[in-house]
Amino acid sequence: MRDLIEAAQHALRHAKLYEGLVDGIAGRKTRTAISIALRDAAATGSTGPGAQFEGERRIVAAMQHALNVTGFDAGPVDGYVGPRTRGSLEELMHLLGEGKPLTLDREDRGEGPGRWPLQRDVESVFGPAGGQQCTAGRVVLPFAFSLAWDLDRTLLTFSCHADVEKPLEAIFREAAAAYGENEFRRLRLDRFGGCFNHRRMRGGSRLSMHSWGIAVDLDPERNQLRWNSDRAAFAHRDYRLWWQIVESHGAVSLGRQRDFDWMHFQFARLS
Ligand SMILES: [Zn+2]
Repeated sequence: MRDLIEAAQHALRHAKLYEGLVDGIAGRKTRTAISIALRDAAATGSTGPGAQFEGERRIVAAMQHALNVTGFDAGPVDGYVGPRTRGSLEELMHLLGEGKPLTLDREDRGEGPGRWPLQRDVESVFGPAGGQQCTAGRVVLPFAFSLAWDLDRTLLTFSCHADVEKPLEAIFREAAAAYGENEFRRLRLDRFGGCFNHRRMRGGSRLSMHSWGIAVDLDPERNQLRWNSDRAAFAHRDYRLWWQIVESHGAVSLGRQRDFDWMHFQFARLS
């Protein structure tokens, strides 16, 4: 509880909603700041109409609001600490500790999160599923990867949709440079689980984003479809930098946004 209050105090201070000490104690100033943040969240429509939070959830919700209004992405203001809230809190702590953001300058490249279409609009942007463009791109990897289901088979390139070749190549190149080859391999980011594959979503009737060659799976064995962040390898903090890089190119992780299918990231937004 003390840690949570401390984290909330940091976030509220950063949002200029709190001027007191960061001491982990919910004193009068802290409680006032929490109330102001919650009122603000309700007024701006970030919480459902008439949403009421009690106890610990009040603190979490106020913190989420403070993070969201200062440019972090804590997810919906719901009073629960999920992967997005945890991630944005880590980003805030990095900023306060190091004096510079953990995120890379994505806006410079014009590849911000808004660049890619919504999932439901992919057909109008990327063309027909399984069409020629879906395999017209070729990603050159920074070093040989292995096929996740047959580690003896290596690959130096793989095919994808023509429009995502450049960002995919950049993601792997930047991540390899940021981690170094040994660490990159230790993290099993070199275990390729597939890109283009004309098929339906697992357990669904709609087409998978793999049908357009705009999604990539990595290390499926340790990031199984239904595993949540408590089990999936890629939810671990060691992968924070990896996801920063992926997201800096506007790609979307289902793990980070929905807490399942952590093996998968795609160039289409969920909402
Ligand atoms: Zn996938």
